Order: sequence, then C-alpha cells, then structure tokens
Amino acid sequence: MIRVDVEEERKEILKRYRRLLRVAKPLLKSGDAKLIKRAFNVSSEAHKEMRRKSGEPYIYHPLEVALICVEEIGLGTTSIIAALLHDVVEDTDMELEDIERDFGPKVAQIIDGLTKISGVFEYGSSQQAENFRKMLITLSDDVRVILIKLADRLNNMRTLESMPRHKQLKIASETKYLYAPLAHRLGLYSFKSELEDLHLKFTDKETYEFIINKIDETKVSRNKFIKTFIAPIQVELDAQNFKFNIKGRPKSIFSIYSKMKKQNIPFEEVYDLFAIRIIIDTPLENEKADCWQVYSIVTDFYRPNPDRLRDWISTPRANGYESLHTTVMSQTGQWVEVQIRTQRMDDIAERGYAAHWKYKEKENSPEKAAGGLDEWITQVRTLLENNDGSAIEFMDDFRGNLFQDEVFVFTPKGDLKVLPFGATALDFAFEIHSEVGANCIGAKVNQKLVPIGHKLKNGDQVEILTSKKQKPSEDWLKSVVTSRARAKIKDALKEEKKQYILDGKEIVQRKLKQMKMEFSSVVVEQLRAFFETKTTTEFYYKVGRGIIDPTSIKGFKEFKQQKKLKKNTMIQVTDESSFTKEIKNLKGPEHDQLLIGEDMDVVDYILAKCCNPIPGDDVFGFVTVNEGIKIHRTSCPNALELLSNHGNRVIKARWTSQQEIAFLAGLKIVGTDRVGLISDLTKVISNELKVNMRSITVDSDSGIFEGTIKLYVHSTNHLDNLIENLSEVQGVLKVSRFD
Ligand code: MN
Repeated sequence: MIRVDVEEERKEILKRYRRLLRVAKPLLKSGDAKLIKRAFNVSSEAHKEMRRKSGEPYIYHPLEVALICVEEIGLGTTSIIAALLHDVVEDTDMELEDIERDFGPKVAQIIDGLTKISGVFEYGSSQQAENFRKMLITLSDDVRVILIKLADRLNNMRTLESMPRHKQLKIASETKYLYAPLAHRLGLYSFKSELEDLHLKFTDKETYEFIINKIDETKVSRNKFIKTFIAPIQVELDAQNFKFNIKGRPKSIFSIYSKMKKQNIPFEEVYDLFAIRIIIDTPLENEKADCWQVYSIVTDFYRPNPDRLRDWISTPRANGYESLHTTVMSQTGQWVEVQIRTQRMDDIAERGYAAHWKYKEKENSPEKAAGGLDEWITQVRTLLENNDGSAIEFMDDFRGNLFQDEVFVFTPKGDLKVLPFGATALDFAFEIHSEVGANCIGAKVNQKLVPIGHKLKNGDQVEILTSKKQKPSEDWLKSVVTSRARAKIKDALKEEKKQYILDGKEIVQRKLKQMKMEFSSVVVEQLRAFFETKTTTEFYYKVGRGIIDPTSIKGFKEFKQQKKLKKNTMIQVTDESSFTKEIKNLKGPEHDQLLIGEDMDVVDYILAKCCNPIPGDDVFGFVTVNEGIKIHRTSCPNALELLSNHGNRVIKARWTSQQEIAFLAGLKIVGTDRVGLISDLTKVISNELKVNMRSITVDSDSGIFEGTIKLYVHSTNHLDNLIENLSEVQGVLKVSRFD
C-alpha cells in the first residue's frame, strides 16, 4: 500500500499547474488564462480518483503533456486546453458534447482525434493501426492533434519505467515504429531523438547505459578538442562582425547505437560522435549569403570533404529543415561535421511545425514557411481520401511516406518536382496528372528512352510518353513508390477486382454447399487461413481469378477432418485471451506466462527462424494463424512490426532454467587467414562441452578470412563462453553472433 499525503500532493499539483501558466504566459492573450484554469479544474476533477502506474496522481500526466506542448513545441492556448483534457473523454464519464459545450468545437474536435476507438480485436485488422488512422484523418483538419499526440507519447515514454515489461516493449516498439518517424517527418528533431533514445533504453538497457557511460567518459577530451577546433573560426567570425553561437554536441544515443550496429564497430570507432553547429543571427534577406560566408571561413581553416556537402538552404527538405552541412578534416586527422544555419533555421529544426507557424506569421511570407510541410499534409490528405483498404495496409503506405528521402527532378519545362527516393517514371507521370499516369507507356529521361519502372535520380529531366490505349495493370504497383500513384492505380484496378471478388464468393458458396458445409464467417475465416491469404476479400479474389483452384477447397475439408482427430493433443489458439484461458485450464490460475521448455507438451509453439532465440534471450510469444505460437527475441528485426501492429497477439514468455534442449545459433568470424585456422576453430568448438556444429562456411580473400558457423548451444551463457574461446584463436579478429 502506498501512503499518500493528500495535502502535500495538492500543493504539488498546484505547483505544477503554476509552472505551466508561467511558461505559457508570453503566448497568452487576455482571457486565455481563465480558460486554461477552467480546463485544469475540469481535468483534475475528472481524474481525481485516478492514479498513474507509478502511484502518482493522474493529473500530473495531462499537466506534463500541456507543458511539453508549450515549452518544447511552442503551441498556444487551444492546444494547452486540449492537452489538459486529452484523456478525459477516454478515461472518465465526460462526453465529447460536454467538452464542446464548455470549450468550443475546436477543442472538442482535437480531443475527438486524440481519443482512441475501443473495439474488439479481429484478425486482419489492428487496433493500433485503426487508432492511428483515426488520428491522421483529424490531421487533415488540424495538425495540432498530431503534435499533442506526440507530446502525450513523449511523456508516456519518459514515465515508462513503472509499466510492466510486456507493456514497455509494446509501447516502446510502437514509438519507434510510428511516432519517432512521424516526429522526424514533422521536423521535430529533438522529439525524434529523445523518442528513439527512450526506445533503446527500454528494449536494450545494457547497450543504452553502456553508450551513456562512454559519452560521459570521453566528455573532457571531446570538449578540449572542440575548443581547439573552433578557436580560429571564432576569431574570424568576430573579425567579420558576425553575431553567432557555436555548439558542439554529441549525437543522440540511438544514432551512435545505429552506427555501431550497422557498421559492426565498437564505440571508439564511431568517428562522427558529435557535430559542431554554428548558429548566426542575421536578417532573412541575408541568410543564404551569410551562411555561405561562414562556410567559406570554416573551409579556409579546414579542408572540406566534397562528397559530404549538403545544401538544404537552397533546397530545404520536405519537413522544412534548412541548414548547410559540411564535413571537414581537423588538425588531428579526424573528420568533423559542421552545421551552419541561422537562428530561424535552428528554431525550425528543433521545434518543427510550430516554429514554421511562428515565422510564417511574423515574416508574412507564406511561400518560405509553408513549403514542404503543407505539401506533406496535402499528401496525407490525398492518401486518406483514396484509402478504403485495411488500416494496416494504410499504415504501410503512410510509413512509406515517412521514411522517404527525396529526389529532385524536373519537367520538360524546368518545373521542380520533389518525389520520394526510389520514385520511378510512372510515379512522376501520376504526379503530373492521374490521366497522364494511367496512360503512361514509358518516358524520356534526359532525352533517353526508359521503361515505366525506371528509377529517377536527382536532377533528371523527365518527359512522359502516353498512349490512349494504355491502362493500369496489377504489376504497375510494383513499379511505383508514391502513395498517390498507388492509390490511383488501385482505384483503376478496384473496378476490375470487384467483379472477381463477387465471382469468387459465389464459387466458394457453391463449393461449400456441394461439400455439405455451412457457409459462415467462421468457415470462411478458416478457409482464408488454410489458403494463407491476408484477408477474406483477397481469398475470394484469388478464387475468382482462378489463382486458387476451386477444386482445391476439397483439400480443406480433409484437413479439417484430420484436425478434429488431433484436437485432443493440440490447442487451437486464436488470440491472447483464449490462450490465457487454455493455459489456465491446463495449469490452474496464476499462470498467464508461457514457460518455454515446460509447456512444450501442452502448447503448440515453435522458435522463430528469423531470430533463432536461445535460452537467456529476452523473448516474447506471438500467436500466428497457422503455426501456433512463435517465440521471437525482443531484438528480432520483426519484433517492432509485430509488437506495434498486433500487440493483442503478443504473449509474455520466459525460459525455464532446467532444460537441456539445444538451440541453433549463428556465429560470424573474421580474421587473418593462415594455414590450419579452420582446424583450430573446429577444435575449439568440438572441445566445448555439448556443442554440435551444423554447418560451417568459409570465405577467404587476399588474406582476410570470413567464416560463418551454425551450431547448437544451450543458452546465451554457453554461447558467450564459446565466443570468448574462439576469439582467442590465433589470427581471429572478431567473433559475433548473427540472427
Ligand atoms: Mn495521455
């Protein structure tokens, strides 16, 4: 039991509320403070009886979210009110109408977008995807929904410690999968970095803390280096009367982690641990010239790498990011990234959309400020209007748009078009006009004839060739990357498809009748799973088009009969709750966690091949449609997708200690080649107790040896031991585990 000092708590709540008001003060117009006070009172009254998992009063959460909105995004009164009330409709008796009556339609609309839909979980749909889609529909009306949602998520991530482990994993994965890219796309870089760092903290705490310690340890020498590096630049900037500010900041923990992982290098070898940022204060009309002047000063002292010059001032990124980046060689032979930008650009880089707004109003120059972001919102709107597929499909499309890097191409008349990286001639055609897209037969890129699937490069000039006889086909979807083109092609195909689906449904009905089986949603769902299609519609379609042979439906009947016979030995699991029920039936209450090893005989589960978990790994169970439960490592490349899209199918799992089952693991060995190396390696392996080698492949190229070994081990301890012994073999440089 937690003892609570009510009086103390009340004081603390008021203290936090006053802090919010103080920070918001410069943004408030007359009468605003009164509205905020009312929202605060309504919210604290509504959440009065509630506490967060940490035991703290619930009202801390909306107060913090509101504070993030003001302090870190720069949002105003409407957003503060919406943030204070954002959980009220979902968690308490208050209705949306109450909010609308008391705070007006704008606030009500934002809160509606923020409130999750409650519903029953089904196959082929995903609760989270639906929620996300709903949120984005509101985005087309008001981008503040997204910004408040991000603030909400940030506070939840900051306070994730008190959540149970499986919830931590689910929330952290969702954050990495959706919210961090979303923050990035909106230009909220500090949000994005913090969300990614927190994701790492809750999925791989050990590495997270390791990197933090390393950054700390190297701080003194880094600061010394930065000081020497910037000294001559400072002198010259002063001499030329620049108003400036220079920062040398380490990169985010997550970006260091990604570098280490991607390049498979230790912390010490990550060379661009930090970037130098020169922020100048200069009027709008001089921005570009002054930034290049600073560039000129920097490169007078240090030689730049011509491949690493990035000019996002002449052509800002789609999320509004503007900056001039160069990488130069320092006196000590180390490459250093230098970012040059103005105060305005820096504000936009840190605070994204909200800062855009601010400058848009101030400078009264809509073209400059609106640019890519408005375009992006328009894109999302098109996507929403054209999409009537499943929410998961929609989210994939949307994510596609989030991660894009851009290519810049030109029309024959020289108009600039910005397309996502990997865009093709066909994407370009649809970008021009949907009719041009639908009739596209090819293109001329820089005067040369190319097919519709030709990938465009920066600076290409593209002319589309059309024919009235041309019409979109299914494989066109493989040739496009933009959601606009996909949507248009799907529209055209849909008409055609509809007929196939109707035909397919009729055939299935007829077949089932012939086999004296009932045509019901349960049977159809089983058929869908049997034929391994994603949705029932797709199943009908495949039958209608003859991709699935109607006579093979008979095979399903036989399969079902066999299954009935086996039923006593195998549990049919359909979702988490029925799983938990089954487990409880079998093992009595208090047992909602899958014990790998022990439950082997009662529950049908297998170890996922994508990540080959072994005892000791952090794992979770995932209910699949046809193959029972699969066990994945939490670090599995597929884990993010599974946890965030299908959280309801995730089952807690842990290893039992007493077992002697062998598990497949892979090792990669790099070293300098010499005679007898392989035999030495295999000797170590066969000397190790109870290790069985399954395969070994070796590549040797000009003296460098690279081998992969697959073997059966019992646990991570066991494997670590083996790695250590292998590392000691003469000539071996590195031994690492791979999935
Ligand atoms: Mn919340």
